[in-house]
Amino acid sequence: MKLYVIGLGPGGEEQMTLRAARALEACDCVAGYGLYLDLIKNLLDGKTRIETGMTREIDRCIAARDAALSGKTVAVVSSGDAGVYGMASLVIEVCADFPELEIEVIPGVTAACAGGAALGSPLTCDFAAISLSDLLTPWEVIEKRLRAAAAGDFCIALYNPVSKKRAGHLQKACDILLAVQPPETVCGTVRNIGREGESFTLTTLGALRDTKADMLTTVFIGNSRTKAVGGRMVTPRGYKGV
Ligand code: SAH
Repeated sequence: MKLYVIGLGPGGEEQMTLRAARALEACDCVAGYGLYLDLIKNLLDGKTRIETGMTREIDRCIAARDAALSGKTVAVVSSGDAGVYGMASLVIEVCADFPELEIEVIPGVTAACAGGAALGSPLTCDFAAISLSDLLTPWEVIEKRLRAAAAGDFCIALYNPVSKKRAGHLQKACDILLAVQPPETVCGTVRNIGREGESFTLTTLGALRDTKADMLTTVFIGNSRTKAVGGRMVTPRGYKGV
């Protein structure tokens, strides 16, 4: 009885690791959000899809668990890495009472790494990943983390920069950071990483405040040493003499 939790990477099949592709090949059933399953549809021929909308994650994980308990080899897939704002923790939790089920979590390339590569090298040194989604985390906690990251001069990868229900999350986040960091701080945004229409922009923290982002965008905030080099966003490692 085997249940895989697979991080697919940011885009289509060429963004996956070989380990993820091989595990997927071994599966009878694949559970995931429809958009992600569509991105890898070439790999799903002959496999049963367990598909529910974005907000039915618990149902989807239970359905996957039950399919695995019935003897099928099953994968729950997330985009990027399944352990970064993904399904890995939930799968482990809903399977807690079923020790006979073997769970294997397979890492994937998370948006911070894939988007960082598209921009250049913004996360070279210490960085923080912060999601601006307040669906599962209270907004006050998100604000506290933003303040702490700015105080620590961390580069920041912002996931979920907008929310369907509440407007202005990115703007509020920028205001918190601007209390500590100068408006010239180098920032970048990457949209549709590894997918058709991938694009990136370099900007500043001051301008980012008035930028429109969407849920397909990851936002990068530089630290005090981050700079633009040849159109790329770079946080220097610190080597002398360059
Ligand atoms: N598990 C995923 C993150 C899911 S949270 C991972 O490890 O990458 C969803 C957020 O991730 C999006 O709002 C966006 O900020 C970011 N993201 C995920 N895939 C992306 C992509 N292909 N391009 C740009 N941003 C992406």
